[in-house]
Amino acid sequence: MTRNPVLPAPLTGKLVTPGDRRYAQLRSTYTTRHSPAGVLLPETTAQVVAAVRYARERGLPIAVRSGGHGLSGASSNDGGLVIDLSALNRIDVLDERARLVRVEAGARWAMVAKALAPYGLAISSGDHGNVGVGGLATGGGVGWLVRRYGLTIDHVRAVEVVLADGTVVRADAEHEPELFWVVRGAGAGAGIVVAFEIEALEVRNVGLAQIAVEATPDGGTLRRWAEYLRAAPRELSTAAVLFPYGRSAVMQITAVVAAESLRRTRPLVEPLLAIGKQLEHRTDLVPYAALVPMAHLHPNVGQQASTTTNSLLTMDDGSAQAIMRAATGPNRALVQLRSVGGAVNDVDPGATAYPHRRQDTLAVGSVFPPQGGTALDAAWRGVAARADGAYVNFEARPDRAAFDRIYPGETGRRVAELWRRYDPDGVFRPALLTRQPSRR
Ligand SMILES: Cc1cc2nc3c(=O)[nH]c(=O)nc-3n(C[C@H](O)[C@H](O)[C@H](O)COP(=O)(O)OP(=O)(O)OC[C@H]3O[C@@H](n4cnc5c(N)ncnc54)[C@H](O)[C@@H]3O)c2cc1C
Repeated sequence: MTRNPVLPAPLTGKLVTPGDRRYAQLRSTYTTRHSPAGVLLPETTAQVVAAVRYARERGLPIAVRSGGHGLSGASSNDGGLVIDLSALNRIDVLDERARLVRVEAGARWAMVAKALAPYGLAISSGDHGNVGVGGLATGGGVGWLVRRYGLTIDHVRAVEVVLADGTVVRADAEHEPELFWVVRGAGAGAGIVVAFEIEALEVRNVGLAQIAVEATPDGGTLRRWAEYLRAAPRELSTAAVLFPYGRSAVMQITAVVAAESLRRTRPLVEPLLAIGKQLEHRTDLVPYAALVPMAHLHPNVGQQASTTTNSLLTMDDGSAQAIMRAATGPNRALVQLRSVGGAVNDVDPGATAYPHRRQDTLAVGSVFPPQGGTALDAAWRGVAARADGAYVNFEARPDRAAFDRIYPGETGRRVAELWRRYDPDGVFRPALLTRQPSRR
C-alpha cells in the first residue's frame, strides 16, 4: 500500500500506514507482532462499510480488531488491512428501566463498567478491563459474575453487523435469527459486529475475596473447590491461578459475590477457606467497576507472547489430578481455572453458538517463549483427555481440531454453514475452519 493512497471520502484521515507515528501502537495484538499494510480507524458504521469495500476492491486480506486481546493474533495480519474499531466505542443507556444498553464494539470493558456505574448497572464480561467488547461478546464472556448471570452473550438482545458485501443488518431473535444465533459464540466468521444491545444487570458493589490455599498433588483441593462451587449459591463465582510449589501449588483464588454486603459475602466465601491449607485471606466490598478498572487500559504491542489452550470439563478425581500435573509436572503450563456452571447451564445448548452448557470448570493453560505449542501440548495432554469442549476465546491456535472442540457436532455444522452463507467469499473466515493442526 502506498504511503498516501487515494481513499474514499468517508475514510479520509482514517488510515494509518507504516511511517505514521501511530503505526507502532496499532500494528500488533496483545500476544503477537505484525506488519499490516495499513490500519483503518473507522468511527461510524458507514466508515466500517467503506473500509470493507476498500479492502475488498484492492484484494487485501482483512483483520478485524476491537480490543486486540485475542490470544490467536487474528486481529492483525501481515501485508493486509486491519479494521480497528477502537474509535467506535460509544456506550449509551437506551432504556434505564429495562436496563438496555447499546455498546459499540471498540469499547473496552473498563469503559463499559465506568459508564454504567452511575446507573447502578453492570455487564458481567471478563476479568480484564482492557479486553475489547467485540471479541469477547462474539465469543462468550466468562465474567466475574458468571455463575449468577451466565455468559455475556446470554444477555445480548440485538446486534448491528456489517456483512462481507457491505450490507448492514440488525439481527435479534425475530429478525435475521440465524445471524443472531451465530454471532453469539462464533461471531468472528459471520461479519463485523459494530454494536451490541445488551441487557445489563443491577449491580453496584460486589463482595471480593482473595484467598490462597495449598493445592495438593492428589487433586483433592481442586476437587473440593469444584464440589463446593457446584452446589454453592450462584452469587458466588471464582477464578483461580495455580503457582507451582514443588509437587503442590499455591492456588490463588479470587472469589466475587454478587451481593451488596459483607454479611452476605462472608458465609459464601468461608467454605473455600477449608478446601486446603489456608495461606492468606482477605474479603472486601468493592464497586463492580473496580474489578475491571480503567487502570487496565494499555496499547497492545505484542507485549505478552504466549501460547494458550483451554478445556471445559466437569471436575472429578481424574481431571483434578491431570490439572495438577499440567501445573506442576516436568512439562508445565500456567494454569488458570474459572468456575462456570450456574446460570450458564440454564441456557439450552442449541440456543446460541456456545453449546457448552453442562460443564462446571474452564481450565486454561498457557506457556511463554521460548516454549510454544509442542510444550503446551505435552503439558496439557492429560487435561485434554478429560475435556468435554473448549471456549474459542482462550485458544491461541485456531485450526480445524480446535474448531471441532469449540463447536462440536451439530453446532459446528451450523456454524460452518452460516459462516459460508453470510460470508461466501471467506473475507472474515477464521483459520479455525481452514487451517490444519500445527504445533506452533
Ligand atoms: C488478559 C486477558 C484476560 C482475559 N480475560 C477473559 C475473561 O475473563 N473472560 C473471557 O471470557 N475472556 C477473557 N479473555 C479472552 C477474551 O475474551 C478474548 O481474547 C477476546 O477475543 C478479546 O476480545 P478483543 O476485542 O480484545 O479481541 P481482538 O483481538 O480485537 O479480537 C479477537 C477475535 O475476535 C474477532 N473480532 C473482534 N472484534 C470483532 C467484531 N466487532 N466483530 C466480529 N469479530 C470480531 C477478531 O477478528 C479476532 O478473531 C481474556 C484475554 C486476555 C488477553
